[in-house]
Amino acid sequence: MENCMVSVYYWCMVKQNAYIPISKCKICKKIKDYEYEETKNGELDDDVANNSGFPPEVWKLENIERDQCYTRRRKNPFASCPNCGVRYLYSYSYDYYVNGAEEEHELDRMAPTDVKNWTVFDVKKEKEAPGNFMSDKEYAWRIENLKNDIESKSALDREYAAISLTIYYIDEGDQDSILKLLKSDDKLILKTVKKTLSQRKDDIKGKKFAKLKKN
Ligand SMILES: [Zn+2]
Repeated sequence: MENCMVSVYYWCMVKQNAYIPISKCKICKKIKDYEYEETKNGELDDDVANNSGFPPEVWKLENIERDQCYTRRRKNPFASCPNCGVRYLYSYSYDYYVNGAEEEHELDRMAPTDVKNWTVFDVKKEKEAPGNFMSDKEYAWRIENLKNDIESKSALDREYAAISLTIYYIDEGDQDSILKLLKSDDKLILKTVKKTLSQRKDDIKGKKFAKLKKN
């Protein structure tokens, strides 16, 4: 019994301490940053172009529930990789027609900041409340490692790091660090940072980002 406890404890420590970049994770490296598929009555819809379906690795994620629409009230909406701990958000929508139903499935790899800042709707208090789906400790640890990944040889790692750090710097109001990313010689980083900034344009309004808007 004692031995067992020690090994469980050891396993938890290892799991927490060993950072695994996307490119080194056997599950996540097979999942794109954004995955989409359409089904008809639950079967993959062959009439839709490039609709190859989610890679099978998606079903190895923990807390993934197919066909279950997440709601803001749900306890934990994130699926997580059992290997590296990266979170994903699965969403589902459907339309009913005379001859059956058409379903759309989306899976997004989440930036740590979006997981950390996720709020849930507190029905009793009738207001938004912190979801607490990522501890401060894990958050700081992921961000530090992503700062190394931006120099990685793997395009997959650099892309996820560029998305995640851009969102992190926006949240921190750190426009100088974003400007530094925009001076990168790496085309992939440049493209990814610009794309992320345009997706988040509502968050970079105001004085705090004045220098960035001139760029
Ligand atoms: Zn993983």
